[in-house]
This record gives sequence, C-alpha cells and structure tokens, in this order.
Amino acid sequence: MSDLVTPPRAEVRIDLGAYRRNITMLRGRLVGGAQLWAVVKANAYGHDVDHVAQEAVAAGARRLCVATLSEARHLRQGGLRVPVLIMGPLDEPSIRRALDLDVSVTVLSDAMAAAVERIAVDGTRRGRPARIHLKVDTGMGRWGVPLGGALDQLERLDALPGVEVEGLMTHFATADEPDTSFFELQLERFTDLAEAARVRVPGLTIHAANSAATLLDERAHFDAVRCGVATFGMNPTQRDAAEFGLEPVLELRSHVADIRELQPGESTGYGRSFIATEPVRVAEVPIGYADGVHRALAGVGEALVHGARCRMVGNVSMDHVSLLVDADVAIGDVVTLLGRDGDASISTEEHARWMDTINYEVTCGLAGEPRLLRVHVSS
Ligand SMILES: *Cc1c(COP(=O)(O)O)cnc(C)c1O
Repeated sequence: MSDLVTPPRAEVRIDLGAYRRNITMLRGRLVGGAQLWAVVKANAYGHDVDHVAQEAVAAGARRLCVATLSEARHLRQGGLRVPVLIMGPLDEPSIRRALDLDVSVTVLSDAMAAAVERIAVDGTRRGRPARIHLKVDTGMGRWGVPLGGALDQLERLDALPGVEVEGLMTHFATADEPDTSFFELQLERFTDLAEAARVRVPGLTIHAANSAATLLDERAHFDAVRCGVATFGMNPTQRDAAEFGLEPVLELRSHVADIRELQPGESTGYGRSFIATEPVRVAEVPIGYADGVHRALAGVGEALVHGARCRMVGNVSMDHVSLLVDADVAIGDVVTLLGRDGDASISTEEHARWMDTINYEVTCGLAGEPRLLRVHVSS
C-alpha cells in the first residue's frame, strides 16, 4: 500500500530540495536587495547541519548564523569558508577563538564590549580585523546593549584598532504574534537607531528580522534577514506552513516491530495508563522519548500507518511507543510520526500542539545520530 521503505529502526528524512526551495521563496520576498542569512544553530534545528549548511550556501544564503562557538567551529572544520556569525554570548577566550576561526561575533552586553576592547588593545589580532555585530536591546529584554547608549557604543567599538563593526542588529520578541503593537514599537526604535548609525558608521549591515518578521513585515528586512524556522518549512506563527508557501523539510518514520492483541483489562507499557476495555490491536513502534518522541504525546499524539491516523496509547517509553491499530496493520509496516503517508500527513505544527509546545522544539528535540539516522534526499 505504501511505497515508503521500512527504516532499520527509526529515521529522519531530510528533503534538501524542499529546504532549497524555501530559501529561494524567502529570498524572492526580500525587498531593497536584502540578503538572506541562514540560521543553522542547534544542528540546523535538528535537520543535520552538515548537509543543510552546504545547501543553504548553494541556495544563495550569504551568511550562516549559529548560537555557539562550537557550532561555528564545526562549520569551519567542515570546510565552509562563508561568513559566519555567532549570535550567542561568548566570554573573552571564546571571542579570541571565534576570531581565530575568522568568524564574526555578536557583542550583546556591556561585558562583551569590554572584552572586545581588551582584545583590540592587546594588539595580538592585527593580521585580520575582529569583525563584530553590535546587538541592541529594543525590547526583547534578554540580550543586547541598552538602546540609550548604543550609538556611542557603536562608535567606540568601531574606533578600536583592528576592530571592524560589520553589523548593527536587534531581535524581535513578538514578531510571530497576532498583536503587532510591541513589534511596531521595537521596529520604530530600531529604524530610528539604524538611520543615525548609518551616518556615524558608514558601511554597516543592518539586520533585525527572524523568520516571522521576514514573512510578515518587509519594513523589517533592512540589509539582511536571519531566517531559521521558515527555511525548514515550518511556520513561525504555528499556523499551516502552506500559508506562506513553505514546504516541510523533515519527516520522521519508524515501523511496526510487533503487534499485540489486548483483551479487556490488559494494558500496555509502564504505569498501565492504557487498559483495554474491548479487544484491541496495539502496534509496538521502536521510537521513544530518547529519540525526541515526547512523553506528553501519550494518549493524545497520533502517527500514520497506511495513510490512517493511529492514536498513541499507554506511556511513551525511552525506546518505544504503542499505537492503537486496525486489523490490516502488520509487522514491518511503516509508521510516520512527522510527514506524509498517502493522503494523510502530520505537520510539526500539529505534533507541537499535542506536546503543548512550538514546532521549533519538535525538530530541535529529535535525537542526533547514531541514535536517530538521518537520510538525505533532494526532491
Ligand atoms: C534563532 C535566531 C534567529 C532565527 O529565528 P527563526 O524564528 O528561527 O527564524 C534569528 N535571530 C536570532 C538572534 C536568533 O537567535
């Protein structure tokens, strides 16, 4: 019935063609010549950064953005020479290591600005400029130097020997929410700052938008956008991905490893949370919470077998989950936890609602190899 190949245990299938088309679509929406920067932190949101990073560059992403020094080092060790920006906080030794890797760092606190000043002053970095982006807190209330002193901070950093301020940036707290009032406030604050900053430090790259802001408001595009979740075909607003013409990139599959016939009063799994009240067939599927199939799915989550929805019953174990299945299901049949099977499909957005979370956490929470195999295709 299904043309899907039964995986050895469970696997994540990544469609690099869909990833490329999402990037192309996003680039097509950008105004004023803005660049698309691909955010590939957290192992490319669980999509396997090694393949995804190459594909992003091939699809026209002009920079790769990561959260940590180790992620940046991984990209460089993989041979990628494209511009890279570390967006997360770094201590002084880590800033030095990032600069040695020819990676740009985000100065997102006064403490980091002071560390950059010390590094500049000790003069050990004369060969290559220390490239930094100054992040300003326009309302996120997490990272970023205060808005008030941002212009002076920008000039002070730019005047340091061996330091090149490449970028000025901010981050939106509510770009994905229906109420746009706080987004508007942040955008207005940043737009004013950006205008003044361009005069004081010519040549700056101004950037603010995440996926939601990129999709919803072209005034936020500035010189570059930093897109993560949308490049993976997931909707930052948690609505249907098709709303923006996004194609899901990732599918998660396992298979039926065994089938049990439960009689009334019999249960399956830890805690006996599911007790049959009538004769039922339960499929044992070898994928569990250690793979990223969250325990919160027990009793509410679904998976597809033969294109039909089957409910997860009993507790999710570390390595197994149980499904209530029909009479036609047999050992070896493919189980689709995310993605399409026949006419049916389960999106990361729907899966996230069962878990009471957002699609980001669904894919970021999937185990890496060797636990969960990644298979790459290009449609
Ligand atoms: C993760 C991150 C992004 C990407 O956000 P998406 O919603 O996935 O597009 C952009 N900017 C910063 C600073 C980030 O940390």
